Parts: sequence; structure tokens; C-alpha cells
Amino acid sequence: MSVPEPHLSPSTSAEILLVDDDPKTLMAMEAMLGDVGGALVAARSGREALLKLLTQDFAVILLDVQMPDLDGFETAELIRERDKSRHTPIIFLTAFNQNDRSMLRGYALGAVDFMFKPIVPEILRSKVQVFVELQRKTHEVQRQARLIRDAEAREHARMLGEERQRWEADNLRAQMERERAAAVEMARKAEELARAVADRDAAARALVQSNARLALLSDTANRLLTGQRPHELLDELFVRLTGHLDLDLYAYRSLDEDGATLTLRSWGGISDDDAHRLQTMSIVGGVLGKIAESRTRFIVDADSPASDVRESPVMAAAGVSACLWFPLTADDRLIGTLAFGTKRQRFTLEELAVLQLVADQISIALERERLMSELQARNIELADADKRKDEFLAMLAHELRNPLAPIVNALHVAGLDAQARGGSVARAHATMERQVRHLIRLVDDLLDVSRITHGKIELRRERTELHTVVEQALQIARPAVLAREHALVVEIPDERIPVDVDVTRMTQVVANLVNNAAKYTNPRGTITLKVERDDDEVVLRVRDTGIGIDPNMLPKVFELFVQVDNSSDRAAGGLGIGLTLVKRLVQMHGGEVLATSDGIGKGSEFIVTIPLSLGDEDPVSSPVAIAQSAPATLSERRPLRILVVDDNADIRETLKELLEIDGHEVTLAEDGHGALAAAGNGHQHDVAIVDIGLPGLDGYGVAEKLVEIRRAKGFPRRLIAMTGYGQAEDRRRAFAAGFDAHLVKPVDPNTLAKIIAAQPNEGDR
Ligand code: ADP
Repeated sequence: MSVPEPHLSPSTSAEILLVDDDPKTLMAMEAMLGDVGGALVAARSGREALLKLLTQDFAVILLDVQMPDLDGFETAELIRERDKSRHTPIIFLTAFNQNDRSMLRGYALGAVDFMFKPIVPEILRSKVQVFVELQRKTHEVQRQARLIRDAEAREHARMLGEERQRWEADNLRAQMERERAAAVEMARKAEELARAVADRDAAARALVQSNARLALLSDTANRLLTGQRPHELLDELFVRLTGHLDLDLYAYRSLDEDGATLTLRSWGGISDDDAHRLQTMSIVGGVLGKIAESRTRFIVDADSPASDVRESPVMAAAGVSACLWFPLTADDRLIGTLAFGTKRQRFTLEELAVLQLVADQISIALERERLMSELQARNIELADADKRKDEFLAMLAHELRNPLAPIVNALHVAGLDAQARGGSVARAHATMERQVRHLIRLVDDLLDVSRITHGKIELRRERTELHTVVEQALQIARPAVLAREHALVVEIPDERIPVDVDVTRMTQVVANLVNNAAKYTNPRGTITLKVERDDDEVVLRVRDTGIGIDPNMLPKVFELFVQVDNSSDRAAGGLGIGLTLVKRLVQMHGGEVLATSDGIGKGSEFIVTIPLSLGDEDPVSSPVAIAQSAPATLSERRPLRILVVDDNADIRETLKELLEIDGHEVTLAEDGHGALAAAGNGHQHDVAIVDIGLPGLDGYGVAEKLVEIRRAKGFPRRLIAMTGYGQAEDRRRAFAAGFDAHLVKPVDPNTLAKIIAAQPNEGDR
């Protein structure tokens, strides 16, 4: 705040207003007052005086009373009305003695004095002097007061300034204090931040490192567990580990089969010479001995006693200061050891953990490898054994057929006699026939199952009625049902049930199930065969009241060689292949079979579902159908000339007898050449029955030659192959060689009779 400078010069302008209409009086008064020290201002009328008073202050007004226009009193009245001049002293001048009333009026108007004309100059001067002096003093007082006020104002301003400065300084100090505190806080925060950043960096570095190790571990596990030969991966693995963990030595030893020696298999950080020198180590004594015994890891580092270090030749060879051994175990069996070394003083805890995991993984991988190769070897062995078993079964079945053929023939021959003699001989014969049939079925089943296993069975489907299949099956199974005095209930709708099946095979299926029902039901039980036709399939059920099947065994009964109870029903016989055949044959027909039973002693039910034939052509007749549907009765048979070629004397002889009983004339040959000689000898054979497996020229060769002879001479008219080889390929070859029919040994004598009786070109193709 600025303070104006005090006005130092005293006001000397004490002015005196002279008001009189008479110029002479004015001049006289000016003369009188010339030396009172105030400036004189003259006015010739009241109005002029009022005008002057507008612009100026006066120390005293000398006012003439007697004036034209406005007189002195009136003028005084107007002067008093104004603020500015309300207190200005007025001295009235009058020429004559005023009465008291007018003097009173004058005083009421503020007159301070009255002077009468003629005016005495000294009196005037002294009176005016008083007012001039008064005004001068008033001015002085005012000036002094102003000076004081100014000084006070300056002092005030100074104090204010000081106060302000102090306040500003305090403020500044507080501000600085705040700023300093903020700076300190900021520095602290910066430091904290720096520390956090450093911590974070360290954590990030640790994270990166531990991530890398985790990746290494998971990669290791992956390689070890997915690789086919973890053994071979070890070297590469160790190299990568060494890179990651700053290792200077690794050594993997496996335990030899002697269980006493550890052989170095994979290593790094020691020379090949040292490796050679340290190749085998005993598991007794030394560091390895400790590990082998305790099955726990062992550490030697800068803190270990010197003796430990001396005990490890590998540490010495690698020049490492710290070494870590792990036992590799499987099921607590020692399978090897793993050693890692470093030139640093010791391993960190984290390294120990990582290496422990690696060792565990390697243990697992090595054991897995061992188990896998064991498993593979077992698999190969099993597959081998399985193959040998299949081959053996096929061979067995085939070999069993040969002795069966003459037995069947001989039985048939003896049958006529036996029936004639009756009694025990006839019964014995009947028993033998039954048992041979059973034997043949077993052999056939065996052969079939091995053929199905090898996918060698072909269905010879034909359109037929299910009734036919059921009838034939019951014909086969009836003896077994009767033998145990079962009641047989057959429920089959009258309507046609057309199916496209291999009649022989489907018959086999149904007969098998009924046979089983008879076999596994105590005598005098009930067997129910029920057929139901559905939209597009037919359901055949064989139910019995027999021994039933344990629920646990139900899913297994269709497996090969499975027999539910091996002890109790051995008398029933069987190999446990019947249901396997049933299931596979049904599946080959596009159907399903399942077994149900309410439990032991509650009977069983086998349910076969096969598709119905949807086409509407008539059933196609097949050669088999002809052979079977055209039963040749003895009366229809005419004697034929028949050439029998077989190297097996029994078969040859019994077949001869069999054919001769039917009235045929038989020539025998024991090999191919004999056969050709016989045929070429002018015998006009109607039929030649030729075994395929002949010594020297085999049956196919014989057939080819016989066909040539026939071309020349017209005989033999029909060629029938009779062989133990019944597979599709065998049949194809037989027909290609020129045979008209192909029969598998042992041939049922009735079937043989039918085939022989058939017209040329109606053979069993
Ligand atoms: P097997 O030659 O032993 O009869 P299968 O393959 O025909 O061989 O049958 C396998 C097993 O299923 C039999 O040993 C028998 O235990 C059981 N089984 C088959 N059919 C029946 C049935 N109707 N009732 C009870 N058990 C049966």
C-alpha cells in the first residue's frame, strides 16, 4: 500500500472576503487590512459574495448589512445554509447604530461581531487578525493532524509490510517444509519402487529359471516316457541337463544281471580312458555300496569329510568338488545308479530337487522300458503259442479224420450183421455208432473253429425255410434229447419263414444249442425250441430247465474253450468250442446270439436272432439240397463199377466192403499210378473215388489224367474227391482238376451213397 507524502508547507492563504456595495468602503478596508497577513477578496454584492464562497474558503467574511438587492442578513442566511460555509465567521458592518432586534437577528445568523461605521482601522485589523490567525492555526492543526495520520498510516503500512513479510516468510518456510517432506517421501517411494523393481526382476529371473527347469523336467519326462528306447535317450538328456544346471559330470550305471556289478553305460565329464578304467564297479563298498544298501541318495561336497571324497574315484577323475548319487529303483529293486557332479562347492537345494525328479523319471522310464520289452517278448511268445495251438488243432482234427473214415465204413458194414444178430451186439453197435458220430462232431467242431479263426469258412447261403433248418437240427440232436428222456417242445409258426442261410451251418447252430440243452439238463427235463417271426428278423429260442448258468459266466460262455463247470459235467463231454462256433456262425449270418439264465439250477435260454429273407424269389436249390433232398433208396440204386484210390489200406478195404454191400463192383488202387493203370486197363468205371493226399502223383494229378482217359474212352464217367482237406480252396482246386464232387472224410455212408447215385454233373459242387 502506498502512502502519500505528507503536505509539509503550511497553508498561508488565510483569505478574507470583503462584501460591500460601496467601492470606496471596499478600497478603504483593503487599505486597512493590507497587513493582517491574509489575501483580500472583494465582492460588490451579496450575490457576488455567494459566488466566491462556492469556490473558496475564507477565514472571515466582512459583510455590509445595508446593500441593495440582497442585504447583509439575507446574504448571511444563504451563506449559513451551505455546508461549506456554515461555520465561516461573519462580521457584519453597518453604518449606523442598529437596534437590538436587528443585532439579535445578526447573531442568530451566526454573526460573530458587529462593527459600526466609521470603522476604526485598528479594531478592524485586530478583529480580523484573530480570525486570520484562527484559520491559520486551524490549518496548522489540520496539517499536523494530517501529518500524524500520514505517519500513522506509514507506520501502519510498515507494520503491515513487516507482518506481511513475516507471514510470507512463514508461509514460505511451511511451503518449503512441505516440499522437503514431499521430496523425502518421493525419494522414499522411488527407493521402494527401485527395490520392488529389483525384487520383481529377481523374481522374474527366478521364475524364468524355474520355468526353464520345469520345462526341462516335463520335456525330460515326455522324452523318457514316450520314447521307445529311453536307454538311448539318456546321453542326449544328460547333455541338456548339463547345459541347464551347470553340471561337470554325469554317470549312469545299470545293474548287471549278476546283481552285483554296476556297469557304466552313459557318462560325461570324464575321459574315455577313465570311463574304461571305471567301467564296472561292485555294489559292495565305496559310495555305490552305500547307495545300493540304503537305496537313498548320497551327497559329497565341500562340507563332507575328505574320506568320502577319496572313496569316489569318479569324482577324482572328473575333478569335481561336489557329487550327488541317486539309486535307480523299480519296486525297491536296485536297477542302476545315477551320478551328477559339479566343480562348484555344492549343489543348491533347487538343483537337488530337480535332479531328484530327473532320477525318479529315469527310474520309471527304465523300468517301463524293461516291462515293455518283457511284455513284447511275452506277446510274441503268446502269439507264437497261439499260432502253434491253432496249427496243432487244425492238424489234430485233420489227422483224426483219417482213422475215423475206415471206422465209419467198418461200422456201417458191421451194422447189417449186428442188426441181424440183435441183442447185446446190436446195442454195442448202436453205442459205437453214437460215439463215433459224437467223435466226428468234435473233430468237425475243432476244424471249424480253427478255420473260422483264420477266416477260412465261407457260407454257402441259399434261400430256405427256417422249418427245414429246425427239422434237420432236431434230427441231429434228437438222440441226445431222447437219451436223457427230456421232453422236447417245439413251437414254430405255420407261416413261411424264409431265410438266406448256409443250411448246414445254421443247422449246426441250432443242433448245437439243443444238444447243449440236453447235455446240461438233468434227465427228464424240458427243452423248448420256440421260433417267432418279427418284421425283418426271426428269433429262435432254445430254453431248458437245466443246471443254469452263473450270471458272472454269462458273458463268457461264448468264448473259446470256456466251460462253466469243469468238474460236474465232464461226463457230458465237449471241448468248450460249441458256443464259440454258434456265435461266430450266427454273426457271419448277420445275426446275434445271447445267453440268459436266472442263475444256477434255474435253466438257461439261448436266443438267436437272424435277418429274415426280404427278397421274394423262390429258394434256390443247391447241390447239397439236391443231394439231401433226393434220398436214394436201395431200390433205386443200380450196381456201378467203382474205382477206389486211397493209400490208407483200412480206408480202401472198408470202403470196398461198404460199396460192395450196396451191390457195386469195386476196383482198388493204392496210389496214383495204380489208379491210372486200373483205369487204362479197359475197366469201364462209372465212378472213381480218389483220395487227394496220395504219395507220388497226388489226387489232383490223378484226376487230370483220368479226365484225359475219359476223353479217349468215355470212362470213368464221374470223379469224386474224398479228402481230409475240406476248405474252400481245396474244393476249388478239386473242381479245377476235373473232379465232379468233393467229399470230406469221414464221409457218412448214406451221403456217399447219394453222391454215387447222382447223375453225372449233379455232383456236390
Ligand atoms: P462244451 O463243449 O463244453 O459244451 P460249449 O461251447 O458248447 O462247450 O459250451 C460252453 C459252456 O457253456 C459249457 O461247458 C457249459 O458250461 C455252458 N453251457 C452251454 N450250454 C448250456 C446250457 N444249456 N445250460 C447250462 N450251461 C451251458
